Amino acid sequence: MTPNAIVKSASKLEVTPNLLDYDAARARGFWEHAREELDGLPGDRGLNIAHEAVDRHAFGARADHLALRCLDKRREVHDFTYAELGAEASRFANALRGLGVAKGDLVGVLAGRIPELYVAALGTLKNRSVFSPLFSAFGPEPIRTRLAIGNAMALVTTELLYERKVAALRPSLPHLEHVILVGEGGTETDVPGTYDYRRLLEAADDVFEIGPTDPEDVALVHFTSGTTGKPKGAVHVHGAIVSHHITGRLALDLHPDDVFWCTADPGWVTGTSYGIISPLSNGVTAIADEGDFEAQRWYGILESERVSVWYTAPTAIRMMMKAGVELVREHEFPALRFLASVGEPLHPAGVVWGEEAFGLPFHDNWWQTETGGIMIANFAAMDIRPGSMGRPMPGVEAGIVHRRKDGGVDEVTTPGEQGELALRTGWPSMFRAYLGESERYERCFAGGWYMTGDLAFRDADGYYWFIGRADDVIKSSGHLIGPFEVESVLLEHPAVAHAGVIGKPDPVAGEIVKAFVTLKPNYVPSRELEKELLAHARVRLGAVVAPKEISFTDEVPATRSGKIMRRLLKARELGLPEGDVSTLETGE
Ligand code: ATP
Ligand code: MG
Repeated sequence: MTPNAIVKSASKLEVTPNLLDYDAARARGFWEHAREELDGLPGDRGLNIAHEAVDRHAFGARADHLALRCLDKRREVHDFTYAELGAEASRFANALRGLGVAKGDLVGVLAGRIPELYVAALGTLKNRSVFSPLFSAFGPEPIRTRLAIGNAMALVTTELLYERKVAALRPSLPHLEHVILVGEGGTETDVPGTYDYRRLLEAADDVFEIGPTDPEDVALVHFTSGTTGKPKGAVHVHGAIVSHHITGRLALDLHPDDVFWCTADPGWVTGTSYGIISPLSNGVTAIADEGDFEAQRWYGILESERVSVWYTAPTAIRMMMKAGVELVREHEFPALRFLASVGEPLHPAGVVWGEEAFGLPFHDNWWQTETGGIMIANFAAMDIRPGSMGRPMPGVEAGIVHRRKDGGVDEVTTPGEQGELALRTGWPSMFRAYLGESERYERCFAGGWYMTGDLAFRDADGYYWFIGRADDVIKSSGHLIGPFEVESVLLEHPAVAHAGVIGKPDPVAGEIVKAFVTLKPNYVPSRELEKELLAHARVRLGAVVAPKEISFTDEVPATRSGKIMRRLLKARELGLPEGDVSTLETGE
């Protein structure tokens, strides 16, 4: 049913993959070996993310290597070498210290992908304060709740965002003592505790010695995407850098001369773990683009920046597919060699489209805000099975399990049998808490496993296949149906641009499969097309799994990070309250 495996031969790849012998790498002591690739703070003073990401390069052989290239909306370039990024981050750290923001204090950053965001992230980590990025398109309420949950002491934002979204909230945020504004200095400010970013940094020293940092010291708070409900604040520690670093090297195959572009916004975990920390720790050049998705713009960036490793998401891949392969043909990408995707299931048609458009397949990988880094991946030297998330990172033990009533779990050993995807606890970037929700955190663990809330199965060769989120799975006439499988088949049809599938309550079947479909340009909804899609799905999926109903819609609701919000489709279908919609993409 799925396209054939994409067979890899390491000897034919232009660059030898970092991970060649998967089984050998899975030997004991993987994380200890990974830790040895990092420096640690001088004088045995612990492990700090910012030291590994910038300072060790800033004061080492890569000092003059291009660390970060920020493209602004007009595609003008703002470059930082490792030495420059290190110095600028030190200024920021000194500025925080000068304000009395200390170890463990939370610093929120609400900004688009501008250079100051990256400097603030690294400077905050140097100061051993806690970096918590917020997505810049959030409205005032989601901003307020997240800052309140984290007891943020400081916020870095732009003048524009401040005026539009934050100023009115300030009285309701008593912990928020300092606001640092990026802009023209126009808001310069009679409000106490409000500062101009540029002036603050100009007055600060560019040398900063990072204090002792225990690997268990809190470093980051990331809010989940809110796909299945109210977003949770996942707490991560400095020791997570071991995962950030090694997953970049093995799962994204980063080599020192790479130019790496992660298209995710740092407001989500991917944009921080892989948009900032992992590429820098690996000493490569990271590209950050302030602009939003636009197929032409993206192809232009891939070409002109000579991007070699590209990490994006299924939502973007679907949009590029919708825009058509002809646009891709107007460009050349001689440097491009490895494509990866995360965030949602990547349908087989998307994997294969990579080959058609770029001559390279997309490598799907799986992880969550809670896991802090990539857990399951299609590695460069490994055959790809389109539709599969790949195999666990060396060092990560994944399992398919069923929860028992007594709180324990039973592990599934039969290939192909479905269950909840679980991970043995103990990898370095595992979250350490949900802010303010200790019970919810405890419920995530059973019998030594972290329970992911996703359903999956493992095939006989150890590849993992995503079925759906436990909350989204449809129970129809005694069958369990994952919406992703149904959506993938609908997306094979030339008329379909987006598809979202839910279970609709039914007195006989329990639930029936219902699909919401957005059409590609040049197609119009009609009864005939509906019949055609139903027939296509029935042939491919069989009568039990195929949708019984299809509705055409202008939009399938998605989070701002591009995940289909099936709970919202369902609530709308049933006329129920929509719940937390703070992360809903509204086209703003
Ligand atoms: P919330 O937990 O608030 O509902 P969320 O789970 O979408 O939001 P994230 O942590 O950003 O928040 O997303 C992780 C989830 O995204 C995974 O649990 C999984 O359901 C989905 N996901 C990520 N990558 C993949 C992938 N490669 N294949 C399938 N699903 C994926
Ligand atoms: Mg989740």
